[in-house]
Amino acid sequence: MSASLIPLSIPNFSGNERKYVDEAIDTEWVSTAGAFIGRFEVEMAKKLGVPRACACQSGTAGLHLCLRHFGVGADDIVLVPTLTFIAPINAVMYQAATPVFFDCDDHMCMDPDQVEAYLSRECRIEGGRTIEISSGKTVKAMLPVHVFGDHCDMDRLMELAEAYHLYVIEDATESVGGVFSKGKYAGLHTGTVGHAGVLSFNGNKIITTGGGGMVISRIAAAVDHMRYLSQQAKNDTLYFVHEEYGYNYRMTNLQAALGLAQLEELDGFLEVKRQNYAKYCEKLAGCRYGGMLPFESGAASNHWFYSFALNSPDAAKRDCLIRCMNGQNIQVRPIWKLNHTQTPFRRFRAMQCGNAQRFYDSVVNIPCSTNLTGAQLDRVCDVLLAFETENHL
Ligand SMILES: *Cc1c(COP(=O)(O)O)cnc(C)c1O
Repeated sequence: MSASLIPLSIPNFSGNERKYVDEAIDTEWVSTAGAFIGRFEVEMAKKLGVPRACACQSGTAGLHLCLRHFGVGADDIVLVPTLTFIAPINAVMYQAATPVFFDCDDHMCMDPDQVEAYLSRECRIEGGRTIEISSGKTVKAMLPVHVFGDHCDMDRLMELAEAYHLYVIEDATESVGGVFSKGKYAGLHTGTVGHAGVLSFNGNKIITTGGGGMVISRIAAAVDHMRYLSQQAKNDTLYFVHEEYGYNYRMTNLQAALGLAQLEELDGFLEVKRQNYAKYCEKLAGCRYGGMLPFESGAASNHWFYSFALNSPDAAKRDCLIRCMNGQNIQVRPIWKLNHTQTPFRRFRAMQCGNAQRFYDSVVNIPCSTNLTGAQLDRVCDVLLAFETENHL
């Protein structure tokens, strides 16, 4: 008999989830209006220290709202990392804009040196805009992603954004609850530094609403406009007047009920994530062929996804490890296939992405749910430690 499944990242409902969802059902407010939506927005905004938040159907929808709001369109370029889940790149495509792909730094986030080299060598500033010389397109925005809960170098990226007149949309979908630990923005939550930030509450994220997302910003009017767009840009509920075209992106009251309950658990989840990460590090410290990657942002990270990395990049060995673990009912996976190598995006420009390739060839994400038991964590470590010997590598 095979051992029971240890999932990679699953939800943890041990608070008021059922109570609040029942309340939403009892009141019959289940759709895109209802008290939980506003409450969830207000509580999240308070928690993160921003004036406003706009709850929407997904993180992807939130990213799209940001790009639309800031006027990113068909003649514009958006700077994006190649090492990320596909959602932010897809959102750029929804606006018919052009992604330009960048490598990551040594903690898997968009490389500010490479962004600076591109902006200074391949672009010129003209009338308050930055133009890519080869294409004549306007570089309008950058979309850094706080990968796996580690943090981008926002000091550098914000400086560049200011110098080159770029909007900064922070993809904080994986870093909810994380706080910048150093530099100019120390003490601020991820997602609150750029012109707007986007959170996700998909089922595998640190807190979940089933599916859902949120846009946050220091600029209250921006969030209000995005909320308007997310509700079909409907001015009123009697005559149905529309001044713009909009989207059906509003979060439902059912989702928000779940979200509010999950938000109450967030601090507890952060602590568990931190502790489990520390346990993995301790138990795997003696592993000869690989080990846990550090979070550059340290204790202030939300430790969302844990990365076990081979000491040297080796895609075949990585795949062998993945097969071995999945074969023993331990759910693990490689990093996402790099976006600049994906069929729909190969035609766009990409910088040299050697760091991202090395991470791709060496990293395996291992189980990180907040309800992972001590025994499960031990089993994951045992299999990892025995892997080389058992496979005669
Ligand atoms: C999860 C995620 C999103 C948003 O995903 P949704 O499922 O649309 O909420 C966006 N970017 C990254 C990097 C993600 O991991």
